[in-house]
Amino acid sequence: MSEQQLYDVLIVGGGPAGMTAGLYAGRANLKVAMIERGMPGGQASTTHLIENFPGVESIDGPSLAMIMHKQATDFGCEMITAEVERIENIEGKMKKVITSRGEYLTKTIVLTPGAEPKKLGVPGEDELRGRGVSYCATCDGAFFRGKELVVIGGGDSAVEEGIYLTRHASKVTIIHRRDQLRAQKILQDRAFANEKISFIWDTVVEEIAGENKVEKVLMKNVKTGETSEYPCDGVFIYVGMKPNTDFLTGAENLLDESGYIPTNAKMATKIPGVFAAGDVRDTVLRQVVTATGDGAIAAFYAGHYVEMWTEDGE
Ligand code: NAP
Repeated sequence: MSEQQLYDVLIVGGGPAGMTAGLYAGRANLKVAMIERGMPGGQASTTHLIENFPGVESIDGPSLAMIMHKQATDFGCEMITAEVERIENIEGKMKKVITSRGEYLTKTIVLTPGAEPKKLGVPGEDELRGRGVSYCATCDGAFFRGKELVVIGGGDSAVEEGIYLTRHASKVTIIHRRDQLRAQKILQDRAFANEKISFIWDTVVEEIAGENKVEKVLMKNVKTGETSEYPCDGVFIYVGMKPNTDFLTGAENLLDESGYIPTNAKMATKIPGVFAAGDVRDTVLRQVVTATGDGAIAAFYAGHYVEMWTEDGE
């Protein structure tokens, strides 16, 4: 990387928020690149069915991600495959993004690193990961044709992915720590109507056990304290998300106590020239449609910042 390659906008993370920021910045003739460590698409590409992105009745996550990626690159957004390790001089004029494949200078940064599934934190979870423990029904569901599965959680992901898993599994049991789901009503209705899905309420999983592969979960009823075992072939864990902000060491003032990034309505963070969009934001609704809206706004205001940018100062 040479000094000549000064970007107007560098986008960290290639989910829907990042790709939309890339599309908008590219279309505004800004010099823009998106840095993504893996396949573009983020969490959306681990979703088998998206039916609440207006204008597209129904599509699978990877296909939607491919279209977004093409749109962004068609308008000139450069794609860099690398892991962002840290950001130097983030408060200065020339911000430096340090990656596994080199360093990049930029006038503005749009942070769209998203969030990843939280772990349950019980014995057996790490040991049996890939041997029956999974966090991605789209990726692993097909391995469980005709098998009995447990899904842990009560939010949109647990219920939606539980429904999806019934395509493959003979039975799906959703174990939830309360007696009410957090998931949207439409998903609840579908799950309750699905003959392959049953629920275990007020119950936490304390251990996932098996010789070389998942054989059962050990559970406790939180109301009665009663413990029991439940045989199963696989466990899908959906107990929420954790923001991918570990690379922001040294810029912790950007984060709230949970590691998310607060922004204003312009998607501006506390640091001038640094914007955030998508699931990494401190927000109430984390959807593809909100992420894309955020990404558009972030790129728009990054463009404004670039217009005002001068080489003076640090
Ligand atoms: P979430 O909404 O945070 O739900 C997490 C679920 O896991 C909750 O039911 C929670 O129980 C439970 N939980 C948390 N910690 C637990 C623990 N240690 N042991 C047992 N259970 C635990 O997370 P999510 O479902 O992954 O969704 C994340 C975001 O993406 C949400 O904003 C969601 O709306 C969105 N999303 C939307 C769609 C869609 O629109 N189709 C699909 C997927 C995700 P409590 O209920 O008791 O807190």
